[in-house]
Amino acid sequence: MNHYHFKALLQNEGWLSPAFVSTDTSGLITYISNQPKGNVRYEQVDGYALPGFQNAHSHAFQYAMAGIAETHQTGAVADDFWSWREAMYKVALTISPDQLEAIATMLYCEMVKHGYTQVAEFHYLHHGKDGVPYANLAEMGERLVSAAQTAGIKITLVPMFYQKGGFGIAPQSHQRRFISSTIDDYHKLLEATKKVVAPHSHANYGFGIHSLRAVAPQDIISALGSVDRDLPIHIHISEQLKEIGDAVSYLGKRPVQWLLDNADINHNYHLVHATHLDNSEGQGIARSSAHVVLCPTTEGNLGDGIFPLVEFQKLGGKWSIGTDSHVGLNPLEELRLLDYGQRLTTHHRNTFTNQTEGDSAVYAIKQSLISGRAAMGNKESSYFKVGEPLDAVVYDASSPLIAASTLENVLPTILYSSDSTHCKGTIVDGDWIVKDNQHKTKEQITSSFLRALNSIAVR
Ligand SMILES: [Zn+2]
Repeated sequence: MNHYHFKALLQNEGWLSPAFVSTDTSGLITYISNQPKGNVRYEQVDGYALPGFQNAHSHAFQYAMAGIAETHQTGAVADDFWSWREAMYKVALTISPDQLEAIATMLYCEMVKHGYTQVAEFHYLHHGKDGVPYANLAEMGERLVSAAQTAGIKITLVPMFYQKGGFGIAPQSHQRRFISSTIDDYHKLLEATKKVVAPHSHANYGFGIHSLRAVAPQDIISALGSVDRDLPIHIHISEQLKEIGDAVSYLGKRPVQWLLDNADINHNYHLVHATHLDNSEGQGIARSSAHVVLCPTTEGNLGDGIFPLVEFQKLGGKWSIGTDSHVGLNPLEELRLLDYGQRLTTHHRNTFTNQTEGDSAVYAIKQSLISGRAAMGNKESSYFKVGEPLDAVVYDASSPLIAASTLENVLPTILYSSDSTHCKGTIVDGDWIVKDNQHKTKEQITSSFLRALNSIAVR
């Protein structure tokens, strides 16, 4: 059992200040009030507690190459998504299960340090280096779950159905670690994943189609028709203009339109990127109650484009954030970049709240949290209430700008003018995982990570 006394804590209806919170041995909140309870001894925390951020899109192995694809090679025609993808394949082909676990543990440790308390791992690096499945089909997935446990983050493992090398193209040799040839093969992988997460309270799973280009159209339709009712469904879509042109040539429709016309898209769907939408596609997503997952630092890094957020929000569209290739790990940066992309293209400010009166920061935190939780299969929309786990990121109340702010200005000050150095710590299931900016097992995690990176020699 733990007892915390925060300077303030953010609930759906606003700040609770001061905030006295108690948890049971499982980390569930048993008491929350602005008054202390009886003779309880509270840990005094000079900080503002926000609900832990939800990282709705991650490819853990890509952390190994973050920041090293930024050099233009002599003779290269252009550096774009497709040339970056070639570099990514090279990394994907070299990583062993031990190395994946070491890389993911470091990455997840850094995520917790930046305030994420749950991650959806969009996982397609399934098989051995030669393309032969491991004896445990979900070996690599199991390593990701283990990494999450060591790092102290909750994980939603989403194994991907990846079958093709492109629209109507057989899988290529460099994609051999990703492939499930048939729906049956994918279901076996999904079953193995289910077994891997079952014993863990911090892990669950979802259903995934890598992209429209990676699975035959008829198999996408059949696979989506077979999904258990409540599983979150993740799919990459409309990230690149070339992909849209290819979809129009092969499927006769733009990707989102094809999906809307061929699957029963609903609130369980999480469409990752959806960068390039026409009006009717945006309307179709919003009407279906599906969510989009936006990854602004990666989308910027890869030159994907800018998602039409202002129009999407006018239609009532819902969105979460993810760090995808992990060139950035700060949720505040994802939210700011998302907002600033819209400001730069519309020449207006406060684009998050153009349809509803109110504070941009309040809106962004709430929207990214609720859709982010949905991406993990969690339908809970309240934050910090009795019976829920205490998952929180705490910002330092003594940080000068925050200390000088009235309570109503604290949240926008955190979102628009802070970085990870203002993060005091992160609590998952009632316990500090990161405290005073230090992860409790970081030294050991870092040395395993450095050993792994040294042996794969990609940087
Ligand atoms: Zn992705």
